[in-house]
Amino acid sequence: MLTSIVGYPRIGAKRELKFWTEDYFKGNLDEAALLENAKKLRSSHWQTQRESQIDLIPSGDFSFYDGVLDTAFLLGAIPKRYRDLKLGALETYFAMARGYQGEKGDVKALSMRKWFNTNYHYIVPEIDEDAQIRLCGEKPFDEFLEAKAQGIATKPVLIGPFTFLKLAKITSARSDPAKEIFAAYAEIFDRFQTVGATWLQLDEPILVTDLDEKEVSLFHSLYSSLLDRKGSLKILLQTYFGDVRDCYREITGLGFDGIGLDFAEGAQSLSLVQKHGFPNDKILFAGVVNGKNIWKNRFEDSMRVISELKKHATRIGIGSSCSLLHVPYTTKAESGADREKLSAFAFAEEKLKEVSDLKTLAQDADFLQNPLYTANLQSHGSRRGMTDESVRARVSAITEDDFTRTPNFEERAAIQKEALNLPLLPTTTIGSFPQTKEVKLNRSSFKKGEITAERYQDNLKEMIAQCVKLQEEIGLDVLVHGEFERNDMVEYFGENLFGFFFTKQGWVQSYGTRCVKPPIVWGDVKRERPFTVDTIRFAQSLTSKPVKGMLTGPVTILNWSFPREDISARESAIQIALAIRDEVLDLERAGIRVIQIDEAAIREKLPLRKSDWHSGYLSWAIPAFRLTHSGVRPSTQIHTHMCYSEFQDIISDIDAMDADVISFEAARSNLEIVKSVKNSGFKTAVGPGVYDIHSPRVPSKEEIESVVQLMLDLIPAEKLWINPDCGLKTRGTEETTASLKNLTAAAVARRGLLSAARLR
Ligand code: GLN
Ligand code: ZN
Repeated sequence: MLTSIVGYPRIGAKRELKFWTEDYFKGNLDEAALLENAKKLRSSHWQTQRESQIDLIPSGDFSFYDGVLDTAFLLGAIPKRYRDLKLGALETYFAMARGYQGEKGDVKALSMRKWFNTNYHYIVPEIDEDAQIRLCGEKPFDEFLEAKAQGIATKPVLIGPFTFLKLAKITSARSDPAKEIFAAYAEIFDRFQTVGATWLQLDEPILVTDLDEKEVSLFHSLYSSLLDRKGSLKILLQTYFGDVRDCYREITGLGFDGIGLDFAEGAQSLSLVQKHGFPNDKILFAGVVNGKNIWKNRFEDSMRVISELKKHATRIGIGSSCSLLHVPYTTKAESGADREKLSAFAFAEEKLKEVSDLKTLAQDADFLQNPLYTANLQSHGSRRGMTDESVRARVSAITEDDFTRTPNFEERAAIQKEALNLPLLPTTTIGSFPQTKEVKLNRSSFKKGEITAERYQDNLKEMIAQCVKLQEEIGLDVLVHGEFERNDMVEYFGENLFGFFFTKQGWVQSYGTRCVKPPIVWGDVKRERPFTVDTIRFAQSLTSKPVKGMLTGPVTILNWSFPREDISARESAIQIALAIRDEVLDLERAGIRVIQIDEAAIREKLPLRKSDWHSGYLSWAIPAFRLTHSGVRPSTQIHTHMCYSEFQDIISDIDAMDADVISFEAARSNLEIVKSVKNSGFKTAVGPGVYDIHSPRVPSKEEIESVVQLMLDLIPAEKLWINPDCGLKTRGTEETTASLKNLTAAAVARRGLLSAARLR
């Protein structure tokens, strides 16, 4: 029986690779040193896996930026504009990842997209008419040989040709590259045989998404000829992030030597095997150790799956459900944390041991008596502080009415118009103002104990006062406090609610050198006392204009955390929603008339298959949001914000959140979304960002005016808000002030034209 790890994190337990690479970008580390450091890092990752007795240890999963980009590079999918820069190989690679601006030219980066349903982002390959797709790199072979030289026979890992083809952007003038891509993989097969590899893993996560018959048959025909070329090399087809329901029969009918299925996220993986069986000539690699979550494996559940699989498959391997890239390195780095809590977790290193322990158990006819099993069983007894009866009681007392705000949207809109007395085309911002050095210093000095709580609060108040004054000078209509007390929109809420656990070193790669440290939902979530009210009330006391209470929504908090496994996502979201609801009502009680509940990540966990959208995720995500605000008075105006504009396909669900106003990104996406808003009969008032805050560029008044005019052609003036497309925290004060002045001037000008037209 073999154990197999789909992929291992590459950034380093202390984010070493991040810091080296950033030093290299800054010119503080030369290329040779960067390569040498990376080599040591890979070596230590292989050693760790060997010590845990993993049989199929991955190589080639290392990357300086992203594995999809590595594959594009390997296959020569380098757009002409990057080749024309005539840079060295590594420089070209980074130019594709991050753009290049220097003496040799000025080229933007390739675009970046979310890697399936994870918070990892890949670089979208682009195949232009000039690109000759063929094997033209050495990375996977070099890394295989590097490990071999250390006495470790690894299993090379590559993104599979079909997923690569599906994810690539193919320029319109380019002929279909499918055949060339597959031909390049045939060459790769040859090379791996030459260097002496036994196994080669091809990752094909695209197989867990909706595929039509044509796509399945294309997969089948392309792979059947490719597999004829494999010779003595064993090919492991690795799938993850779901089940392969559309193509199980086709893939098990092909000449693969192993097939990796995901039993953590693949809802139908087990039933597919039960229903169709599994061929005797292949190994079924059972991904039972969840590569996406941080909880210790329940051997009871995993052994149930393994025992069931044994009835249908003669040859079984044990593995992770996907690459361990999506979890932090090791709980060992969390010294000082509560031991009991730590023992509930398994990060990447701990998961290695779980995989090999499960192999031991799978080979033990009497595994129920095995101490590995019994100890695991015992450790899953109830955990301290996970369950809170008051929360449970509150959740079970919720009724349908709690999800519905009354009166209906139109009636509320009329009441709010009267109460808030805002001008036509009201102006506002999304919440945060520039996080200047002083803002960050205030927080960090307080955290380190260098300044007292009083001093911290005084500084904070001073910053808020300045921010309110600035907004009044600029002439904005609905003000914000600036969010100077917040490091991150989810972390801040996690820290102020009960039920979250924060790691010290739990970093996970998000893209390139950027890592995030998601909070862990440890137990039932509740809020004991208000935590935003004093700050917002203070800001409101300084002005007669409405100040927005600023909150993060339950779905975003959950989606950017590691969720629990012992209760459903729905239940967790409802618990968090109740906590936010308490805060909403306290803000209202404190006299706050406009409250914004950000749902920046609501689209993030939308299931990969459309057929699962409404039956699962959306059926609780939208109600959870509604629960946060259904208790407010009709005169209180609820806003929400989303950072992106790709919600055409769920536009009626977004409307069903029943907010009064929603702001989102629109400037960068050619107002496509505003057209959809018009066509869908969207009732919620909208603030489609009128300029892009992701760039330091200051838009002129005229430019903003013309964007507003385009919007007015699609949206009635009564429903249109004027705002930037996201929070301003990453911007500088000067450009922010200039941009916002132009924004208000543009709104005032358009307002004038509108009322003149109405008088006529
Ligand atoms: N209110 C938050 C801010 O302005 C929203 C951030 C976000 O959408 N990512 O920073
Ligand atoms: Zn945003």
